[in-house]
Amino acid sequence: MERETLEMDVVFVGAGPANLSGALHLSELVKNHNADVEKGEHPGPALGEIEIGVIEKGAAVGSHILSGAVMDPRALKELIPDFIEQGAPLESPVKEDYFLYLTRNHAIRSPITPPPLKNHGYYIVSLNRLTAWLGEKCEEAGVNIFPEFPGAEMLYDPHDRVVGVRTGDKGIDKEGKRKANFEPGVDLHAKVTVLGEGPRGSLAKQLIERLNLDAGCEPQVYSIGLKELWELPDDRYPAGRVTHTLGFPSDSNTYGGGWIYGMQNRILNLGYVTGLDYKDPLLDPHAEFQRFKSHPYLSRLLDGGKLIRYGAKTITAGGYFAIPRTYADGVLLVGDCAGFLNSQRLKGIHSAIKSGMLAAKAIFEALLANDFSSSQLQRYEQLVNESWIIPELRKVRNFHAGFKHGRWLGLVNTGLQFFTGGRAWGILDRTAAEPGHEVMEKLSAYGYRGDKLEQRYNGLRFDGKTTFNKLTDVYHAAVGHDEDQPAHLHVLDTNICATRCAEEYGNPCQRFCPAAVYEMVDDGANGKRKLQINFSNCVHCKTCDIMDPYQIINWVTPEGGGGPDYKGM
Ligand code: SF4
Repeated sequence: MERETLEMDVVFVGAGPANLSGALHLSELVKNHNADVEKGEHPGPALGEIEIGVIEKGAAVGSHILSGAVMDPRALKELIPDFIEQGAPLESPVKEDYFLYLTRNHAIRSPITPPPLKNHGYYIVSLNRLTAWLGEKCEEAGVNIFPEFPGAEMLYDPHDRVVGVRTGDKGIDKEGKRKANFEPGVDLHAKVTVLGEGPRGSLAKQLIERLNLDAGCEPQVYSIGLKELWELPDDRYPAGRVTHTLGFPSDSNTYGGGWIYGMQNRILNLGYVTGLDYKDPLLDPHAEFQRFKSHPYLSRLLDGGKLIRYGAKTITAGGYFAIPRTYADGVLLVGDCAGFLNSQRLKGIHSAIKSGMLAAKAIFEALLANDFSSSQLQRYEQLVNESWIIPELRKVRNFHAGFKHGRWLGLVNTGLQFFTGGRAWGILDRTAAEPGHEVMEKLSAYGYRGDKLEQRYNGLRFDGKTTFNKLTDVYHAAVGHDEDQPAHLHVLDTNICATRCAEEYGNPCQRFCPAAVYEMVDDGANGKRKLQINFSNCVHCKTCDIMDPYQIINWVTPEGGGGPDYKGM
């Protein structure tokens, strides 16, 4: 197939905070360098016009961006020191921190907020709006942004050096045939390709596997965050109040917790995180979130309010020990794609922005040296190690692994780490980390008979006022995919679904997917069951790629522009 080729200097894949910050910073470094050479303040040579591109699978910058989000402004201040004067879209400075322990019926406020959850000096933001704003800054600086361009494949030379990225084809029907509007994807050739696809990036997954970038690392582990925006009828929850919760509805063996953030105009941002290393095969993160809202404290808070938005996204939780090699010939990994999120603080925006800036610095030096090899780009790792990213992650390096043996040991471990500087021993240290799909136990281990959710969620009802079923929630994610395209969820062996998986795990994809994409349905008159994939519901959270116990689900990018629209989230 004839494909158009575009020659660029640097291509950033994914318009998230890391890549947009990287693209913006790189354009500034180049501009300042060229100006210095022209003024005679630098011996040169000038770099001339450097073509920087950012490709994004969503319909617009920010449309696939979902985050809590309380932002530590440290890195944004480094990127744009006068970000407030320049009109960064901040919802509110954090004014109050609450920490609640939830029992089934009570909310007990802790007299002290645990230090990692203290947020004074930080800002509640809509990450969707913040990235859209960063995208505008990039365009003003001359960066080319290409929305609706998903990165479908890495391009390599015969020596396995990355030489760019191929974007997805458009106009293929569900049988795989070309439609009238067919357009082949474009080969974007670049000296350096930067992957900032967020957690479990589809290109990063291919790259890490092919180049063995995670050799010697602990396995990456993840959590899933489900989130809703509510419009409240009055000022009962002020803008700037931040609440984190522990306890109900998670059982003590499952990592989980909730958040409630007050935004402007009586908008409440609330959500629930469940560790994707849970054991119970009947656990359903969406049901956990609905139970969270059924707690008397939450249902009182939401009474009379209106659900306006829903979304779900995974979060990297492996931390320091799970960071893969972040560079290779012609390529860098930034932000959550590299696993820089601090899961103890539930914060990754600051480290994403910082890593993007450090990638920009490393690329700038590579442009000056005209060397894009792994040994030159190793400078990025050095810069990350010398920055505040790594010391921050080292202090919490055993945080998540400590929860493997339950909430109470995990909390003891967290407390001890304040005194040990992050060190942990024995069953609480990093060696306890295991990939989530290996941790899930079989139905029989729990004494379950079949896959009836009532066995775990007896009494859970979706009342349509504060609790909703998945389809109602998906409607509020404003998901759109052209239905006449091949499914972007590749299940490599569907024979397992109705046989082994049904017996052993009760088809957990029906539960861990927060968007009702996977459904076991009757297969005609033969009395058998088969997997139906409602791919148009997909909110691109990547949970299925992570959590499938047989690792036979492969998430690939759908046609550009498809997916959720997280406006305002
Ligand atoms: Fe998330 Fe996979 Fe469901 Fe899509 S299909 S919403 S990526 S779990």
